[in-house]
Amino acid sequence: MTARRLVVLGRQGAGKGTQCVRLAADLAVPHVSTGDVLRAAVRQRTNLGLEAKRFIDAGDLVPDEVIVGVVREKLAEPVARNGWLLDGFPRTLPQAEALLDVLGDDGLDVAIDIDVPNDVVVARLSSRRVCESCGWVTSAPDALSVDCAECGGIASRRSDDTPEAIARRLAHYDEEVGPLQAWFADRGLLARVDGNLSPDEVYATIRRLVQGDSVVSGAA
Ligand code: AMP
Repeated sequence: MTARRLVVLGRQGAGKGTQCVRLAADLAVPHVSTGDVLRAAVRQRTNLGLEAKRFIDAGDLVPDEVIVGVVREKLAEPVARNGWLLDGFPRTLPQAEALLDVLGDDGLDVAIDIDVPNDVVVARLSSRRVCESCGWVTSAPDALSVDCAECGGIASRRSDDTPEAIARRLAHYDEEVGPLQAWFADRGLLARVDGNLSPDEVYATIRRLVQGDSVVSGAA
């Protein structure tokens, strides 16, 4: 049976966003990226955005109760009735526990972990430029901003892709997500994918997994 209720884990810069956009379109389920939701809230200056901005800019996690509320609302939307793909959530054990509380014991099909070594993601994040208007992403190691090839806007460095914030975010990732991987593995829900391959190869592996070919449990 094809999995339709998915969590995607992976270091910042592991290619989660790219893989999730493609997978969500293929499965016809909403792609819920908590980072995107928070950045949109910051742009729109909503209460959530005002609260989240200082955490995001410092490379820190926003408080669990804030982000759990956001995800709960997203999963309750009619468009999420037949499945969803969570990108960037959960990031902590309390978030994972809150998620299973909301969903019930059988509510999650699989947590896919896109595994890419630290040094590779540091290089990717340092050169990443993202269009503020349309979200187009490119790599530009020698320029802080470049013209967007999609919409003619400007692709620039994200406020949390500074060297200091990258270091903090990756440190948080290892501290928080390590135990989370073990937590999913204990429940037989973790599937690891080698993310240090071409995007098409990574996607092919994910696609096979989602179709139920083999879910590998056990944190490495
Ligand atoms: P991302 O785009 O997933 O790297 O998220 C960008 C930023 O949004 C993170 O560095 C956090 O400040 C915040 N954020 C996104 N998802 C979460 C989450 N599940 N828990 C706490 N903070 C989050």
